[in-house]
Amino acid sequence: MPKKATKHSTAFITAPIALLAIAAVVVVVGSMIVGVHETDSIAMERQRETIVHAMQQHGESLARELKVQTVWSEAYKKTLERDAAWMQSFYGTYLERLLGYDRIYVLSGRDAPVYAYVEGEKNSPEKFARIEPQLRGLLSAIRDPAAYASTFDVRQTPIDLGDGQLSEHRSIVDMLDVAGQPATAVVATIVPDRPTPQETAPSAYLLVAIQYLDAGFMTELGKRFDFRDLRWTKTIPSDPSTAAEVITTKDGAPVGMLAWTADRPGWELLLKVALGLFLALLLLGLLSSLLMRWGRSKAQLLLESEEEARRAAQTDALTGLPNRVALNLVLPKLIRQSKFARTRLGILSVDIEQFREINDDFGHAVGDAVLLCAAKRLNGFLGTEAVLVRPGDDDFIILVQGIESSTLVSLADNIVRALAEPIPVEGGTQVYITASVGFALAPQDGDSTDDLVRRVGLALERAKESGGGKAVAFAPQMDLELTHRRMLESALRSAVAAGKIDVVYQPIMDPTGKHVVAAEALARWTDPVLGAISPEIFVPLAEETGLIPRIGELILLRAADDARAWPQIEVSVNVSGAQIHHGDIVSVVREALATSQLPPERLGIEVTESVLLADERRADEQIKALQDLGVRVALDDFGSGYSSLLYLRKFGFDKLKIDRSFVEEIGRSTDSMVILASIIRLGLDLRMTITAEGVETEQQLAWLKASGCHQLQGYLFSAPLSAEAMSKFLAVHRPVAAAS
Ligand code: C2E
Ligand code: CA
Ligand code: CA
Repeated sequence: MPKKATKHSTAFITAPIALLAIAAVVVVVGSMIVGVHETDSIAMERQRETIVHAMQQHGESLARELKVQTVWSEAYKKTLERDAAWMQSFYGTYLERLLGYDRIYVLSGRDAPVYAYVEGEKNSPEKFARIEPQLRGLLSAIRDPAAYASTFDVRQTPIDLGDGQLSEHRSIVDMLDVAGQPATAVVATIVPDRPTPQETAPSAYLLVAIQYLDAGFMTELGKRFDFRDLRWTKTIPSDPSTAAEVITTKDGAPVGMLAWTADRPGWELLLKVALGLFLALLLLGLLSSLLMRWGRSKAQLLLESEEEARRAAQTDALTGLPNRVALNLVLPKLIRQSKFARTRLGILSVDIEQFREINDDFGHAVGDAVLLCAAKRLNGFLGTEAVLVRPGDDDFIILVQGIESSTLVSLADNIVRALAEPIPVEGGTQVYITASVGFALAPQDGDSTDDLVRRVGLALERAKESGGGKAVAFAPQMDLELTHRRMLESALRSAVAAGKIDVVYQPIMDPTGKHVVAAEALARWTDPVLGAISPEIFVPLAEETGLIPRIGELILLRAADDARAWPQIEVSVNVSGAQIHHGDIVSVVREALATSQLPPERLGIEVTESVLLADERRADEQIKALQDLGVRVALDDFGSGYSSLLYLRKFGFDKLKIDRSFVEEIGRSTDSMVILASIIRLGLDLRMTITAEGVETEQQLAWLKASGCHQLQGYLFSAPLSAEAMSKFLAVHRPVAAAS
């Protein structure tokens, strides 16, 4: 009787507890699922918005770039005249080569095609008919923005032509499906920016420029906005880790479907907390089962199996040795211990050279046997203070605590020798292997896990490079690259502090190549030990290490001073981005002018396009401030980078220096020559002084002269010269003013 009563009362307690536990589990898991779902759908929505926004942004920036080409009297005039050659270089070749468009059309006021350029070739305008239906909406909207305002957003910019004349520029952007290829299309009116005799009719000529959104572009876009595996797809992805978004034109026609690996923060969080959750539930189970009396042993079992799993994750299945996971846990611990005990820690990396071949030739069973034997041999002469790790397929790492340098060397040699002994495998055959060893000693060779692993790796590389079957100790010169850089930096620092940066001058000639018109100051550095270091090396180094403003100042002061001896020519100085964006270049130039008493119009400043990219506003201010001082500012290396005509026209440069990579193409590539000619013509139109750099041949000289370049610089005339040599050169190649 009493027994029965007990049983009954147990059920009376355990049943509600079990129910409660189940309810708690249901609530926790349920709210997790809801939370994860909620978080992921918010994230997904955000990704969709981002991608649509990114595509729009891209379109906007294309439209902005194109405005330069379409608000332009020259373009307006040439288009009205239907000047085919002009359109070919400025609309066709230029837009394709430098701005990356794939199709360009010019349409008359009645939307009739007058020029077409398709995928690198001049095309017959009639073929425009094929793509016309897709563009219909855009064309109608740009002609009559008000009527289509609900669908299309036409950008309308008033243009003040001066003389009381007003005009308006219109542009519109949309996505498009061009024969199965998603693309961005920009349509813009071609209008003048100065007063023109011809009347600007609203039925203006149109420029239609189309850029394919190809796989390469999508990958780039993905990288920029952190979308994994962004691509176009034809099928709706079925697996939940892939997100998709249909891209449409403004009036709703599908252009294509984008797919990418979805960012699922909720799901990822769930995975991260899954173990914790699992353990919590386990605990809950434990608690209730405890109350139900038979839980304890079961929980114990679970914990044991977990410990086992943890051990398994840190153990190499074949050899039973600790694996890479274990290495990453043990090594920092040993480093800390030996630091504390002030003992040394030896680390050796052992690589079995022909392991792959053994696997291929004899099969995996033999490969495994070889590894097991190697591990056994290594264990054989390692003491208890050593840890043998198998981090990868064919290598071992050995950590030895409290070892001295000489013992480490002989240990390494012994390893090489021991592994060179033939290894017997089944069937009575013997396998020969060669082991290479790289080793290092902490703390002198490094005291962090990363450094030590990297450095024994370097030593091992060296052992393998020199034929293998060797043990090589890490030596600091293996860190050469890094150390060399540091050494260079400290040498440069002291040279700059001592003012030991020299200046040479490269003459810049008139188009006949006979008379000097200017000189470019170029920095030179010769270290007493390292010898002459190229500016291509030390200028970037100085930029990275903050030394460039000081170098720039030295060069400016010296150049302004030297220039006084050459009254008929201009001297120009290179200025880096850091000087424009962080230093006070204007004060430095003012000071150089004041101390040298050099008339400002005889000083030039050269900046590259990268300077403009960083912070347009600041660059613009500084350039204007320099020009206000009276110095002339040149855009250097045009054609070597982004080469935006926008910059040419937006920033009021006095001078354009065409990069030598363009000049090199003279006589080689007709395409490049067409672009070069266009750039020169545009420069002339903008009243800039045009200098060609890197002139090396008579052929280049002749072509550049014929194209209307004002100034030529290059080895054909002279390499950079010392100030004295420059004075002598000037005496022979008299400046134009003095010569004429
Ligand atoms: P950069 O401003 O484009 O200077 C022209 C470079 O082309 C010079 O090289 C010059 O010697 C070289 N060069 C001139 N004519 C020819 C030619 O016909 N053929 C070939 N192949 N090369 C020619 P350098 O002196 O080695 O200067 C390299 C770069 O270092 C310069 O390119 C400039 O970006 C930078 N740099 C030099 N001095 C300074 C400086 O004082 N300040 C700053 N910020 N940068 C400087
Ligand atoms: Ca330059
Ligand atoms: Ca240059």
